[in-house]
Amino acid sequence: MVHVEGVERTDGHMRVEVSTPSQLMGCPDCGVVAPSRGRRVRQLHDVPHGSTRVVLVWRQRVWRCPDPACARGTFTEQVPDLVRARGSVTTRAVAWAMEQLRREHATISGLARQLGIAWKTMWRGIKPVLEHLDGQEQRFEGVKSLGVDEHIWHHGDPRRKGPKELTGMVDLTRDEQGRVHARLLDLVPGRSKKACTDWLTARGDAFRKNIAVAALDPFGGYKAAIDEELADAVAVLDAFHVVKLGTQVVDEVRRRVQQATLGHRGRKGDPLYGIQTILRAGAENLTDKQLDRLATAVEADPAHEEVYVAWRCAQDLRATYRDKDATKGRRRAEKILDSFHTCPIPEVARLGRTLRRWREAFLAYFTTGRANNGPTEAVNGIIELHRRLARGYRNRTNYRLRMLLAAGGLTP
Ligand SMILES: [Zn+2]
Repeated sequence: MVHVEGVERTDGHMRVEVSTPSQLMGCPDCGVVAPSRGRRVRQLHDVPHGSTRVVLVWRQRVWRCPDPACARGTFTEQVPDLVRARGSVTTRAVAWAMEQLRREHATISGLARQLGIAWKTMWRGIKPVLEHLDGQEQRFEGVKSLGVDEHIWHHGDPRRKGPKELTGMVDLTRDEQGRVHARLLDLVPGRSKKACTDWLTARGDAFRKNIAVAALDPFGGYKAAIDEELADAVAVLDAFHVVKLGTQVVDEVRRRVQQATLGHRGRKGDPLYGIQTILRAGAENLTDKQLDRLATAVEADPAHEEVYVAWRCAQDLRATYRDKDATKGRRRAEKILDSFHTCPIPEVARLGRTLRRWREAFLAYFTTGRANNGPTEAVNGIIELHRRLARGYRNRTNYRLRMLLAAGGLTP
């Protein structure tokens, strides 16, 4: 594609002169053979060689159409394999940067530093490639199982930054071995029935007909959208979110009991404060020492009994999903549906009522080959990680493209 004409090394830098072999060039508009108008020198940032920054000096050819009737005038050589039109980062360096972002959890600023360029220059190199991949409708092919899940992407002013929530569309389809490789397909602004409906409509009939299972967090709007747009799909309550509801109940009860017994919010040294993390973990993961600490905290005051009961309930809820036998899991779930709503602890009773409202979708998990659990969590983990790495995002378009790249949505 290009010849290397010379290499010059200085401290930590390498300048490589490149050009293409000369050839006859026709005007792209009229086809007349165009005489050369010399060359234009462009500096392109390439993949660093260890800690050595590499700059390609491209002597780009320029021609001029000789036909006075043609509007073309002068035109310059384009080598897309080398660099995009008007780009300053080589195609190879852009591909390298995308791999670093995706697999090595690199940051734009870190990559820019390695290339010796500004953040903006790096992003300007990558963004058009992400936009191109994003526009490929084929990336939505083959999705049989869809997860719908929301997260908060900013805590700023919604008038300036738009809705705080984004609805994530996640591909939860199993491969031939039955494994799920979750991919984040899209992030849609807002948390509403409309956000979900519009996205499903835009995907077209073939996509919608192909979806057999849709896993949701317990939010009525999503369910309504799924029922309308995906008539043949089974709606399943996402296990990850159900377990989270249980953990939230324990937290709420702990805070209420703490306030009632001590008259203040938990602080260091309070018995219930010290076991926060223990209460959030699965019982099967606790060490003997942690179980002892839990028992000591519960016994410290008779009022703490409520916290213990709430914790047991949350553990029962977790256990439905952990049972290797789906039939037994379903039986556990039915028991929860029959008992939680009558619990004297108001937070547990409320959870019981929520689950009863979602009865069918809650139980569907056990009859749809256990749609999911880890996958949604994994995608959320990647989003969290990349958000922390980038120290926040100001711009939703950039945020969306970066998250799609990181969570596999741009590669089929
Ligand atoms: Zn011409």
